[in-house]
Amino acid sequence: MTLPKIDNLDIRKVSEDILLIHQIKTPFLFSCCDGLLILPKKGRNRYSIALDLNIEPKYIKSLNDIYGPVSNYVCTHAHVDHTCHVYSWEQNGAIIHAPNPEANFLLDLHNFYRGFGFDEAMDYISVEKFGELNGFHECKKVNPFKPGDFLKFEDFNIKTISLPGHSKAHIGLLLPTEEVFHISCLGFDKPKPNVDGFGPWYGFRQASIQQYLEDINLAESIFLNDVKYLTSSHSYIVENPDTHPFEYMRAKIEKNQQKVDKALKTSDYLKKSEDDAVNQLLKMDVFFPKRKLKDFLFEIYTLWESWIIRKHIQRSELFNK
Ligand SMILES: [Zn+2]
Repeated sequence: MTLPKIDNLDIRKVSEDILLIHQIKTPFLFSCCDGLLILPKKGRNRYSIALDLNIEPKYIKSLNDIYGPVSNYVCTHAHVDHTCHVYSWEQNGAIIHAPNPEANFLLDLHNFYRGFGFDEAMDYISVEKFGELNGFHECKKVNPFKPGDFLKFEDFNIKTISLPGHSKAHIGLLLPTEEVFHISCLGFDKPKPNVDGFGPWYGFRQASIQQYLEDINLAESIFLNDVKYLTSSHSYIVENPDTHPFEYMRAKIEKNQQKVDKALKTSDYLKKSEDDAVNQLLKMDVFFPKRKLKDFLFEIYTLWESWIIRKHIQRSELFNK
């Protein structure tokens, strides 16, 4: 099979009938994620199936023209980089599936606003602007499922794997027959082997570092024992038995801990309350250069960073002494 050339899309074969697709230039940092396109295969599926492939509508249309109709689309969790263009798959005729408790975030941005706790820190208008910046539009109908459920489209089977450290609904997609495990947004986000990323993301109240470490162990054992290929939302294809993704993610979490510990040591924050320490560290821009940001982006990055810092302070041996 020859792969089509579509400007600004990087299309790679995972196997003969499974493609990993990446939009190269994106309108904003949180407007796209890589995903899989499952092509038709005799005895398995007559129609293509898209898995967490959130790219701009014009590219969805191009793919649909070549490989459509796409019968079903599976979203892995409701962060905006996984939801903003899903409406376009729906407009092109796909049935949309998403995991609870975040499935209804695709139907109304207010649900996203409250569900991820943005309402604790800012007005809705800030999240509305963020949605606009990334091209978010609502879906009309979403079929919810439980993380851990099996999904079956014709004779194509997916086992969803709950990986809730990143967000409550967050799932990996295990394709047992095809020997592919898509770990979605777990935190292996290196565009190339020699290019670094941010790593695991836990900038919300509901995210958990402890759970994250357990999710990484689970994902590693599934990859090493059950499949040949590992794919993710922001990275290249990894072949068994390469354990680099898991070492990378654990090291990133550890490095974040060191950043927070180092900042805690630089003054008398240790003697302060947890809230005071979080606020002091926020001013130091430990993770994000927020000083350069304006308005709603400043508010949003501050909320994310406050949770990342707080979770590390709670784990810090320095702070708990
Ligand atoms: Zn995410």
